[in-house]
Amino acid sequence: MDILLLGPPGAGKGTQGAILAESLGLPKFATGDLLRDAVKHGTPLGLQAKAMMEAGHLVSDDLILGVIRDELATPGAANGVIFDGVVRTIPQAEGMATLLAERGREMTYVLYFDIADSVILDRIAKRRGIEGRADDDPNAVATRLAAYRAQTAPLLTWYGEHCGVTTIDAVGSVDAVAERVRAVVQAG
Ligand code: AMP
Repeated sequence: MDILLLGPPGAGKGTQGAILAESLGLPKFATGDLLRDAVKHGTPLGLQAKAMMEAGHLVSDDLILGVIRDELATPGAANGVIFDGVVRTIPQAEGMATLLAERGREMTYVLYFDIADSVILDRIAKRRGIEGRADDDPNAVATRLAAYRAQTAPLLTWYGEHCGVTTIDAVGSVDAVAERVRAVVQAG
């Protein structure tokens, strides 16, 4: 089962993705985490991604499709993956569909985490004090939200036309949102 978690920064995709991955026994793959780790370790991938990430811009589609290809080639990904914020542009969605089709797979669910900007800004302000992410500063957050609206939000229509999108109300406690996610995936 392959599940894509879609939604703006701060919608809770990482937290809910970890819960879902644990309950389904599937790996969770987050390009944001992978890239942050690459930046931290100064790898060639990290050097390519650093400036764009810190400013809050998306990194290139080619770079992302390369890391998705590598992830799908790992043995752990053979039975499916929870893709947390992995697809953020239409070219990435097209590339992901091709990479899955090469393995006889398609996205089983696209879960859209729906949340108001005011709640996001509040959550990210809290996270800033805890995680100290460079791209959680107010300017970078504004850029990330703008990138989400311009480049990622159109995916709701794209996926709506291809495999369907399920909207999850992302406001509420971690347990309450996890229950909504579970209900969708179990019902399927
Ligand atoms: P995140 O941790 O999900 O908020 O991602 C942090 C940053 O990593 C984003 O602001 C982008 O710069 C970069 N990033 C992560 N995933 C992608 C993606 N699929 N496409 C482009 N950039 C990405």
